[in-house]
Formats: sequence, structure tokens, C-alpha cells
Amino acid sequence: MQRTIFHLDLDAFYCAVEELHNPDLRGQPFAVGGSPTRRGVVASCSYPARMFGVRSAMPMSRAVQLCPDLIIVRHSHDEYSAMSKRVMTILHDTTPFVEKLSIDEAFLDMSGFPGEPYDLAVGLQKRINEELELPCSLGVASNKLVAKIANNMGKARQRTGQPPNAIEVVPPGTEANYLAPLPIRELWGVGPKTAEKMHEMGIQTIGDIAAQKEKLLIDQFGKIGYDLHLRARGIDARPVVIERPTKSVSSEITFDVDVNDSDELKRSLRQQSENVGRRLRKSGLSGRTVQIKVRWEDFTTITRQSTFEQPSHNDHWIYETALDLFQHVWDGTRRIRLIGVGVSGFENAARQLSLWESDDSKQQRHVQNTLDDIRERFGDDSLQRGSDL
Ligand SMILES: [Mg+2]
Repeated sequence: MQRTIFHLDLDAFYCAVEELHNPDLRGQPFAVGGSPTRRGVVASCSYPARMFGVRSAMPMSRAVQLCPDLIIVRHSHDEYSAMSKRVMTILHDTTPFVEKLSIDEAFLDMSGFPGEPYDLAVGLQKRINEELELPCSLGVASNKLVAKIANNMGKARQRTGQPPNAIEVVPPGTEANYLAPLPIRELWGVGPKTAEKMHEMGIQTIGDIAAQKEKLLIDQFGKIGYDLHLRARGIDARPVVIERPTKSVSSEITFDVDVNDSDELKRSLRQQSENVGRRLRKSGLSGRTVQIKVRWEDFTTITRQSTFEQPSHNDHWIYETALDLFQHVWDGTRRIRLIGVGVSGFENAARQLSLWESDDSKQQRHVQNTLDDIRERFGDDSLQRGSDL
């Protein structure tokens, strides 16, 4: 069956939300992100700022060099999340087949809808423009790969200092031709190393990859060579995935005031670990991987993780692992804005318990269940560890 896939991406989303709250920012070169003097990074930059060469993920100090009049705006994360929810509501109102990729990006499966795909895309874009006053761009194609690339291309074509609000349609049957002249880096799976090797082989465009013998690509690049050969010809059978099964359970806290007090950070890690542990047990999940997330005061964010052979959902195990990871990244002085703990790499907990449970851990589990019950009924703060008081 012929599919119709949309890739939708809000244009400079954080900046667009900031402009709604402060219309004076319209048409100005500005960036959302951290301070240039504190190693801040550009999270999002307005289109006028892009005319100066400012890009997201660039150090703010560099951005200010490129554009001395750059206005710097602090993150308002809650507002971006709230607006993202409203965007997603419109998308779900359009089709039940929505795959959210990030706060401002999604795939929609629009197969079988009456009307021309271009007109459908215009209608959706108009709704977002008018109801939310946000610019957005769409790529339309017969699969996810080409829709996403088309969206990138459509946006890149507009270099006016205005949000692109672009729509780019690749008609079915023209995918390979569309991709052929594009540089290989546009293709998923072509990283810097692969690109370098391909350039050495004289491969410059996606069309050059498509023209290679599949066997040669597999010999040179391994299994990914097979995928690249398919992708270069615009072939991608992956479905739009509606609902992802739970892949991780996590909990995080943003401090009102940036914190560098060791006790407070430990207490916070402990609380996040207990919260995660309880939710894991409630869902019957056990994970092998513990992850921490730390956002420094300049908004740069890091994650670290540790994976074990045995899955678990034990609070103490989660906490000890998280603390160990944390102590490897924290110098004891740097201020922290957000700290979070997560567990992933799941296995069915019931099976694990029957296989591995000793008398000792049975007793631990009994205590754990009792604690969970109390917290469930009386709230997270109803019980505290003596060490935390
Ligand atoms: Mg975007």
C-alpha cells in the first residue's frame, strides 16, 4: 500500500515560544541558552541570529563573537513543555498515528486520508500557525527517511532571516531521484568516519552510494552497508510507531536555586532512586542499567550510566549506583540545576524473582513492599531515612 508520511518540526521552537511572551523579540537576533561567561550553550537561536552564523549547540561565547548584538534569553522549560503538549494535541486530532520524536518533532502517518498530501500538509501547518501562533515545517514522502530529509531540505532552502514555515513534498516514485544529488551526510547512518571513508572511495552524493554494488558497501562498512544501500535508494519500511513500550523509568528534580551542597545532592539522589524503584516495582519491571542526568548551572546536561548483569528494582542498588556515577562527574564545587536518576534495560521482574530470590532478599522485598504501601497511601514524604534527617 502507498503510504503518506509527514515529518513535522517546529521552527526554532524555543525562540518562537519566547516571541509569544515577548513580541519585542520578533525580528531580533536572539538565542535561548546559558550565559557566555559561564560556558553556556545555544539551545535555540532565532532566524535573524542564524544570518550571523549562530547555530544551536554552539558555545554562547562563540555566538556572541559572531553576533555582538545577540540578545540572550534564559530557558523557560515549563512553557516549552506546555506548548509542546498543545502541538501534540493538534497532531493527535489530525491522525491517531503520531510518533513523537522530541519536544518539537513528530512523524504522522497520513496514509489513506482523502485529499492531496500537499493540501493536507498546508491545512495542518495553518492550524498550528493560527491556533498556536507557531511556525512549523513539514516534509511529506512515502516513508519516514525521505520525509525527514525533505523537511531538512525544505527548511534549508529558505535563508531569509524569517522562520521557514516550509512544506516539501517528494511524490511517490521519485524518492531515489530526490535523494541522488544530496551530500552523503544527509543520510541517516553516515557519520563523520563513514563519510571520510566514502570520500576516499570517491563517493560524494547519496546517488553515488545508490550506484555502488551492495556487496562492496557491505565489504567496506559491514552490516550498515546493506542499510545504506537501501536508504540511498529512498527505501525505508519502518512504520510510524504509535506508542512506545516503557523503555525507562526515571525521576528528576530541578532545584529552585542551583545547588552544590553535597548532602542535599545525595539526599536528592536518594529520593529520586526511591521514586524510580517504587514505580519499577509497581509496574513489575526490573532493569540492568542505572542512569544519572546532571544539568549544570550553565544548562549543559550530561548523562552517565552503568549496566549490570543482574536486573534489579532495589532502591538501595539504584541509589548506590547513581551515587557512584555522580561522584565520578562532580568536582564537589560545581553548581547543579537539575539532577535525575533512571533505570532501563528491562526484564520481567516476576521471572527474576523466582530465579534469584534468596531468603535474605525475600525479607528485603517484604520491607520494601511495606514501605511502598505506606508511601502510596501517605505520600513520598511520609517516611524518611534516618541518614537523611
Ligand atoms: Mg525544531
